[in-house]
Amino acid sequence: MLSGSMLKNHQRALKELLPGRVFVGHEISDKYSVDWSAENACRPSILVRAKSVDDVSLLLEYCNAHRLAVVTQGGLTGLAGGATPQANEIALSLELCTGITDVDVDSMTISAFAGTPLAAIQQAALDAGYCFPLDLGARDSCTIGGNVATNAGGNQVLSYGMTRALVLGIEAVTADGSIIRSMNKMLKNNAGYDLKHLFIGSEGTLGVVTEVVLRMYPLAVTKNSALCAFDKFSDVVDFLHSMQRSFSRVTAFELMWSNYIDIVVDRNPSIKDPFIKKYPLYVLIEVEGNKVSSGQQEFEQLLFEEMETGKVVDAVVAQSKADADKFWDIRDGVIAILSQVQYRANFDVGVPVSKMEGFIERVECLLSKKFENLMFCAFGHMADGNLHILAWTGVAADVENIYRIVYEVIGEIGGTVTAEHGVGVMKRKYLSYCRSSEEISLMETLKKALDPNNILNPERIL
Ligand SMILES: Cc1cc2nc3c(=O)[nH]c(=O)nc-3n(C[C@H](O)[C@H](O)[C@H](O)COP(=O)(O)OP(=O)(O)OC[C@H]3O[C@@H](n4cnc5c(N)ncnc54)[C@H](O)[C@@H]3O)c2cc1C
Repeated sequence: MLSGSMLKNHQRALKELLPGRVFVGHEISDKYSVDWSAENACRPSILVRAKSVDDVSLLLEYCNAHRLAVVTQGGLTGLAGGATPQANEIALSLELCTGITDVDVDSMTISAFAGTPLAAIQQAALDAGYCFPLDLGARDSCTIGGNVATNAGGNQVLSYGMTRALVLGIEAVTADGSIIRSMNKMLKNNAGYDLKHLFIGSEGTLGVVTEVVLRMYPLAVTKNSALCAFDKFSDVVDFLHSMQRSFSRVTAFELMWSNYIDIVVDRNPSIKDPFIKKYPLYVLIEVEGNKVSSGQQEFEQLLFEEMETGKVVDAVVAQSKADADKFWDIRDGVIAILSQVQYRANFDVGVPVSKMEGFIERVECLLSKKFENLMFCAFGHMADGNLHILAWTGVAADVENIYRIVYEVIGEIGGTVTAEHGVGVMKRKYLSYCRSSEEISLMETLKKALDPNNILNPERIL
């Protein structure tokens, strides 16, 4: 615990070290107190708004020397409490460390500072005639540094991989202030350890990411979308494989159980269920085409054939981008639920596809037996083995029990407690449900080697 006089000394020293970058007390707005999880808000007593890698380096060197904990903040859209300050932590915001630093169309790379919003990178790639395929609902607010730190997934992982697959080079600052500049632009580089992977997905616990080199892809020539209805889970799996055999890029395959559609339609007056009848399962599928194949006709023909087999029982095909956006409104309708429902358990679990159906049935059964007023819905990036579940009873004390029950099942079936949002603070105590003691011990060894004084995002992940 920092005493009042020690805190004042550090505030003074940091203001001298980083003029114009350091804010204290009421100069700090509430937005830096909590991430999107909205849990355990805590206003930092010092906020540093870094503008450059040198700012970050000077700050960490000082904090390391004085054993001061630092929490790194990007766009604060994280859902695991990782960027939420804890008592006595200095908040380091990267939001001013922003901008595209290089677009190299021959190498198909785009480089940017860590605080650049994801949507700005997507737009810059588009302006150059290419695509940066990482995409998620928080695109306008989340930063590329936060995406890299959490190894974000999102809507197109099936075709383009997670953030890890899109990062070629990185610049990061380690706990002692050392700047590790490794702005590689090549797909292949086998000269020793690939150090970028230490920082990707380590949720700010091993270093602060300050700049990245990212892969761009050619723009898709066509994009076709449909919302399909199914009676059986096994038909969904067959449909996925059949579409992957037919199209080289199935970019999205979003599964929604009927309980998800019901809640979304109920809570979003502007969203309509496009089907007259109700079905147990729905899939939003999106495929990209190139010059040679996969126009609208080909897509519709294949869907028709799938309906003839009886696997797809109903389908609506988008005739325009506006139609496709309406499908995505249903899938993104979760955002309204998240902001309307208090005391909710919000899962981003990973489950092998072969165990998914049984998993959902089992947890819904376990939870509804235990909690009388349970609200439950399931959806997710099914083809990536990633499901989201929202469950709530309206009672704060039930939330932790809901988490425990679901994570116990995850542990039994060999799943993961987090497939995309990260461990942060909220899933820390459940890490051992899906990682062995040897794995956790190696993680601790890495943490001690890179951050011996435990100043970077302490008590996240480990
Ligand atoms: C509506 C909505 C939809 C979402 N959809 C998805 C989705 O589909 N897939 C998905 O994976 N996530 C999703 N998320 C979660 C979130 O958007 C991602 O985790 C995102 O990558 C976080 O970026 P950020 O800049 O907001 O990071 P923050 O929330 O600020 O931070 C997240 C973590 O990264 C660390 N961090 C941030 N910046 C840096 C940096 N420069 N260097 C080191 N560490 C850093 C923080 O300390 C913290 O531990 C969603 C969130 C919302 C609100």
